[in-house]
Amino acid sequence: MTGSKKPPLPLQSKVSDEVIARPQAKRRLTKLLTERKPLKGEKPAPTLWLTAEASPFILHILAREEGTLRDLDRFLRDVWMECCGHMSLFQYRAKNERTIIYTADPEPEWDDEDDPFLEDLPPEAREHYLNMTRNRFPLEKPLTTKLSGAFAGDVSLRYEYDMGTTTYVQLKVIKRLETAWPAKNQVRLIARNVRPEWKCRECGEAATRLCTMNECWEDGYAKFCATHAKTHPKQAHPREGGDWMMAPLSNSPRDPCCGYAEGPKDEEPYVWR
Ligand SMILES: [Zn+2]
Ligand SMILES: [Zn+2]
Ligand SMILES: [Zn+2]
Repeated sequence: MTGSKKPPLPLQSKVSDEVIARPQAKRRLTKLLTERKPLKGEKPAPTLWLTAEASPFILHILAREEGTLRDLDRFLRDVWMECCGHMSLFQYRAKNERTIIYTADPEPEWDDEDDPFLEDLPPEAREHYLNMTRNRFPLEKPLTTKLSGAFAGDVSLRYEYDMGTTTYVQLKVIKRLETAWPAKNQVRLIARNVRPEWKCRECGEAATRLCTMNECWEDGYAKFCATHAKTHPKQAHPREGGDWMMAPLSNSPRDPCCGYAEGPKDEEPYVWR
């Protein structure tokens, strides 16, 4: 794939009108947030500043520490992911530590203390055996886990959406701060990457659509301008040829899995100034 050598896409600020270069993001956004006067009814609350990244796509997010992973899941679905309600999870993974999986439907901890094999063991051996067995499996926790707990120690989590054609997102803590929140909101979008400058494979003009036929989208280059989006299906896929295979390009790592297409108002509930 391409992209590893290019400089990262700059950010479109959602608390101002400016475009911010990636290295200046933290300083500039901090200044904008500090200068903002809270509106009536807003109250300060402990806040996590997170990034969600699936290169070249990135979101800068504020979330109340009192909010839950479910709030964050909802946000990621609304802004980046949702095609048709797939499963999703958050995962904590670190060397020599037990993996934790946060899901909507966690399995209870395996605890076969009534196993006759265990009854014959002395207590320490029994405890040791149980711990060993437990540690082979991830610990499952609910999405109702508070963000303050899930990100304690500023750990990073991985988010996965759709267990078939999975989209992976890395969540990192940038810093902790106090910001003013309207009563109902838990998650706020403060910046995201500007749209990549997609180029038409045929003519190099700006591309707006991509081909969703397997052999095309898997190589990542089958993006087309409006003109070539019309001619491509008949030329490359004469048997199946038709407009149905051309999908709009979205500013999302979910593109073009499962017919995902962004909506014009997806981010609206999460943006304010
Ligand atoms: Zn889907
Ligand atoms: Zn073209
Ligand atoms: Zn194609």
